[in-house]
Amino acid sequence: MKSKILKALPGCLFITVSFCNQSCDNSSFGSLNDFDVVILNGRVIDPESNLDAMTNLGIRDGAVQLITAKDIRGLTSIDARGLVVAPGFIDIHQHGQDPENYKYKIMDGVTTVLELEMGTSDVDNWYKERDGNALLNHGVSVGHVPLRMKVMSDPGGFAPVSDAVYKPATDEEIIQMKEGIEKGLKQGGLGVGFGLMYTPAATRWEILEMFRVAGKSEAPCYVHMRYGGLKEPNTCITALEEVISASAITGAPLHVVHVTSLGFGYTPRILQMIKEARSRSIDVTVECYPYTATQTTIESAVYNEGWQEAFGISYSDLQWAETGERLTAESFAKYRKSGGMVIAHSIPEDVVKSTIADPIVIIASDGMLSEGRGHPRGTGTFARVLGKYVREEKILSLSEGIRRITLMPAERLEGIAPMMKRKGRICAGADADITIFDPDQIIDQATYEEPAKYSRGIKYVLVNGITVVKDGQLQDGKFPGKAVRGTVN
Ligand SMILES: [Zn+2]
Repeated sequence: MKSKILKALPGCLFITVSFCNQSCDNSSFGSLNDFDVVILNGRVIDPESNLDAMTNLGIRDGAVQLITAKDIRGLTSIDARGLVVAPGFIDIHQHGQDPENYKYKIMDGVTTVLELEMGTSDVDNWYKERDGNALLNHGVSVGHVPLRMKVMSDPGGFAPVSDAVYKPATDEEIIQMKEGIEKGLKQGGLGVGFGLMYTPAATRWEILEMFRVAGKSEAPCYVHMRYGGLKEPNTCITALEEVISASAITGAPLHVVHVTSLGFGYTPRILQMIKEARSRSIDVTVECYPYTATQTTIESAVYNEGWQEAFGISYSDLQWAETGERLTAESFAKYRKSGGMVIAHSIPEDVVKSTIADPIVIIASDGMLSEGRGHPRGTGTFARVLGKYVREEKILSLSEGIRRITLMPAERLEGIAPMMKRKGRICAGADADITIFDPDQIIDQATYEEPAKYSRGIKYVLVNGITVVKDGQLQDGKFPGKAVRGTVN
């Protein structure tokens, strides 16, 4: 990034016109009055160039064209005085990928939502379903779990419940899954998703075979590890060793999802191991969500016998998502049969804080709202980071908080999807995915009891230059979201 310093102003260090070098095309300046949208007088924060200045943005044809202290005019003008103008937030772990979820994501400041952990068995169809009718930019991986379910005809939904959980794969089934991964990557999948805890019968060899396919094209593997918690021999440490070694053996980049919900009190050790692997040039990244409770399906293998010991919790730490009730041995048995989402209050707050404070950790939601029910992370993660952990608890600076939810997730995806070089930053040529918020007001409002609540303080959101939130109100009937696709040959 080159920045040309125009002049120093009181109250901010410099006014700069910013050019990206590799990431963005910097050739397309217009005259000063022909923009589609101008954003005036906001505090523009760009985590790549470290720009943090009161300045103006000119947007045309879905991209940022100009950053300038000069007066500019456009067809639409947004007065951002007193507000922060940031790159649109990027959620690299979002399961809910429908209009209901997209509404809440946009009101949490998110402009790109990616389903990478579970993924899909049919990449083409997944994109087709959202083509032209998506509020947000969206993308998906090809998933080992859904492929295993398809190959083994498992009748489960979000997670498998039958053969895909309990049956070791035959050689023929492993070949079918490998072919499925290869095909999904060719169709534009953003890497390969794994939920190893949901498929305990998948052997280490099976997983290594999947990593090998990803490694051939350096497609990232996004992994929910095989074990969580502290009980030997099947701890989160063993689980991390499995996938770091698979990455080292095959060359597939590794991304460890929701680290606190598997590491619990051992999370600092997990982060230490990841840093040590990185220092040996293994490409490993990691994410967490900013909450002290987990959520998944109660009928899945996560709650197979031994969960209390493994996770260090008991029945009363579980909350039934549909009603908010705390569970007992009896209600646990009943719901395990009927199936559904359960929330587990299992992550110590000091672990959440120390993980968020760690500069290598991306923040992502793992969100999934269904008819208004679910975990509040699906609707409040991003405002919570900037309200609770930046403003109130001062665990992160504002620009660092923004970096964790914009530039860092974009950089994780850039290898497989070069178009992500135009997201997660504000510079000439960047996609005009922009979130404008009030730094004094921004906060999540979703709770475990009432997850379907919009975050507060998100004032304007632009997706590809189209204003979809205006004066804090969602604008109906706009579908500017585009597909984010991988480019493996
Ligand atoms: Zn997971």
